[in-house]
Amino acid sequence: MKIIMLGAPGAGKGTQAKKIAAKYGIPHISTGDIFRANIKGGTELGMKAKSYMDQGQLVPDDVTIGMLLDRIAEADCKNGYVLDGFPRTIPQAESLTEALDKLGQKMDFAIDVDVPDESIINRMSGRRACLSCGATYHIVYNPTKVEGVCDACGQKLVLRDDDKPETVKKRLTVYHDQTQPLIDYYKKAGILKSVDGTQDLNKVFADIEAVLEA
Ligand SMILES: [Zn+2]
Repeated sequence: MKIIMLGAPGAGKGTQAKKIAAKYGIPHISTGDIFRANIKGGTELGMKAKSYMDQGQLVPDDVTIGMLLDRIAEADCKNGYVLDGFPRTIPQAESLTEALDKLGQKMDFAIDVDVPDESIINRMSGRRACLSCGATYHIVYNPTKVEGVCDACGQKLVLRDDDKPETVKKRLTVYHDQTQPLIDYYKKAGILKSVDGTQDLNKVFADIEAVLEA
């Protein structure tokens, strides 16, 4: 069961990826985790990635794919894996397809967690964070006992810059330009499955289970 998660930033694909990983006993592989592991482990690819990051440059796709291929060659990936955050662009998707092809592998599902921009902007603008202890809340979905005050440590909560509508809109624009074309790419490949991501997260997961077990 090899799965790619698609969806806009804030659509909840990371949460669903974790639920899939837990239920089916396959690893949840995020690019952030792969980068950290390779840099910490001092691998050749990790050092290469770090040299680009230290200069404030984007890590080239071949380096990222190299780390990803190393990761999926590990024993815990033999029954599959769920990729979260990669590929993000058509060239990355093409390189990944090619690299897997050489291994005689292919992805089984690309799951698009579909949420309209307006809902994402509304959801994100309801997030509140405690800068003191790191706890996060949501004014509707996960409210604090006292409005604006952290349950855990009593400090004042803030709306982070990352969650402000103007920041979210910018990220959505990048998503529509670069990542949304992957939906067509995987549709053509015959593995795209869309689920309605505006529902309660357990209902979203139930729809994903139905797709995977069909
Ligand atoms: Zn706190």
